[in-house]
Amino acid sequence: DIACPDSTRTIARPRLTPPARDAHKYRRGMVAVVAGAMPGAAHLAARATLHAGAGYVLLASGDPQHRSPDALVRRKIADADDLAELLADARIGAAVIGPGLGSGNHARALLDAALASDRPLIIDGDALTLLGEDAVRRLSTRDARSWLTPHEGEFVRLFGDGGGNKIDRTRQAAQRAGATIVHKGPDTVIADPDGNVHIADTGTSWLSTAGTGDVLAGICGARMACGDESAADAAIWLHARAARLTGAAFMADDIVAPIASAVAECL
Ligand code: AMP
Ligand code: MG
Repeated sequence: DIACPDSTRTIARPRLTPPARDAHKYRRGMVAVVAGAMPGAAHLAARATLHAGAGYVLLASGDPQHRSPDALVRRKIADADDLAELLADARIGAAVIGPGLGSGNHARALLDAALASDRPLIIDGDALTLLGEDAVRRLSTRDARSWLTPHEGEFVRLFGDGGGNKIDRTRQAAQRAGATIVHKGPDTVIADPDGNVHIADTGTSWLSTAGTGDVLAGICGARMACGDESAADAAIWLHARAARLTGAAFMADDIVAPIASAVAECL
């Protein structure tokens, strides 16, 4: 458990806005999810994005074999130039990169293209590892927003484990990087670049299973693209609520459809 100073607060159920009466799929949250070496993780994130309320999700993948008959729109990207071209589309309100991205030269080039783009980014998993110790410099020079979603191990690799409690470490890292940091775990600490810190202790320990972080990254993309006021808080609340609605001993895939039920509780 972590001490909770006055300047922090725990997150509550968000108020989400339903699509307008004349809503159009491109205008109610368009998200690109970048797939890499292990496209299953990106597919999981992309499905979570749709269930978290985005209107249009593009799964950008180099693997044309990776197809299944669902609502995701596949876009083949052979290289980083293709990704840069895709991310030039200003209708895209968020891009998710990292789940299953891999760590080779191709992955590195895709991350470089995403960082160079003007799109808001959710950076998770392998992309956090690729960012490496140079993260602060690379993030602080971006004009568009960046969110990082590290677990403790990823956080330490990026920012070191020097001094202070989880709240202070996360706040300092967010301010240095000029990014929102969702520092995951039993207590998830959410810090924005302005020094605001929120804490989510609404999760369930059943979330400690493979793939749940990929699901969270997808939900983050959806809520960012939908333009919620406290979009990171909303995403973390929906993730935890979907897990609780699912129950126990679930697989990451099982909590995806219940995200929609969690959204319905917020309207
Ligand atoms: P990852 O570490 O990227 O696989 O993400 C795991 C997800 O599950 C994050 O959203 C964590 O906050 C959550 N999680 C993992 N372990 C626990 C736990 N013991 N209690 C609550 N949430 C957890
Ligand atoms: Mg992860």
